[in-house]
Amino acid sequence: MARRYRIGFVRGDGIGPEVVDAVLEVVSHLMPGAELVELQAGYEYYRRTGKSMEDDFLEKAREVDAIIKGPLYTPPHDPSFRSVNVLIRRELDLYANVRPFRSFRGISQRQFNLVIFRENVEGEYVGVEGVFGDVAVSLRVITRRGAERICRQAFSYAKAAGLKRVTVVHKANILKLSDGLFRQTFFDVAKEFPDLVPEEIIVDTATYALVKSPEKFQVLVTPNLYGDILSDLVGGLVGSLGLCGSALIGDRVGVFEPVHGVALDIAGKGVANPVGMLTASKLMLDHLGQKRGDPELLRRASILDNAIRVVIEDRGVWTPDLGGRCGTRDVTSAVIEEIDRAL
Ligand code: ATP
Repeated sequence: MARRYRIGFVRGDGIGPEVVDAVLEVVSHLMPGAELVELQAGYEYYRRTGKSMEDDFLEKAREVDAIIKGPLYTPPHDPSFRSVNVLIRRELDLYANVRPFRSFRGISQRQFNLVIFRENVEGEYVGVEGVFGDVAVSLRVITRRGAERICRQAFSYAKAAGLKRVTVVHKANILKLSDGLFRQTFFDVAKEFPDLVPEEIIVDTATYALVKSPEKFQVLVTPNLYGDILSDLVGGLVGSLGLCGSALIGDRVGVFEPVHGVALDIAGKGVANPVGMLTASKLMLDHLGQKRGDPELLRRASILDNAIRVVIEDRGVWTPDLGGRCGTRDVTSAVIEEIDRAL
């Protein structure tokens, strides 16, 4: 790990600061030479300063190697405040939202291991809406380029991981043109990967099938909104959203965040589960290790993954969302102990 990394971090809103602080402690442990750069944004920042992000946020974000990001709050009833999450994704062109979901022994009801590749900048999230009298219209945009790059990411991942099947989730029976284009592009890209089996499933059937038998899926690729909804469903199958992390990948910087949101109901109480955020940081180590050809970082990613498994599955250090009584700090300290044992 000779290279010195610059890691940006956004504390975020709600439980964000609690879980980000936990991760910074773990990351400093695993990447001792890393420079940590704070980037400020979010609803709390907006309330203090009148701005949703600091002026040079995007410049700083483009200069770091990767970003650890806590959840950011978008108040549903304040039309003057546009989602910072959506802005960051669009401005940094983070087109792939990669969400690995793996069951935990002793917690999840079913055993499974699947990854959702959610297209992250198009669909309903382009932010083009209008009200015409009593009619409100939101534009849904699917482009061939957008569909192509997320599908290619999903197939490339499946190939590298030695998997067999990739499944596209769509509703092309009703949304014949937009989801029709997504579906067709998926099968076009599939031709570049003759060793993999391309499969398709309608989104409502996918929802049912995921609840009934999640173990049948390996890699799912979806337009933006379906991926958003299905991720929470599979997070529920894992046992808690607090256990799941995600990677937002573009062609430049990657952003690593938990799947969960700001969880205002438990914010400030010291009981937020940091595992989702820790899992996201594990994905960051993997991503940087692969991108920069750094085998030591890859080894440390696997040490972190294993430490999380031991703490949850063997030691039962559980926060209340898992039915336990431990706090954020207890989980963090236990993970660091396991890392120290392995390093
Ligand atoms: P947002 O508006 O940002 O999506 P939300 O509160 O609607 O926020 P989540 O933050 O995803 O949605 O929370 C959904 C539920 O899961 C809440 O009851 C919350 O307390 C719980 N939860 C989410 N993340 C965690 C976590 N890390 N640890 C413990 N509980 C969590």
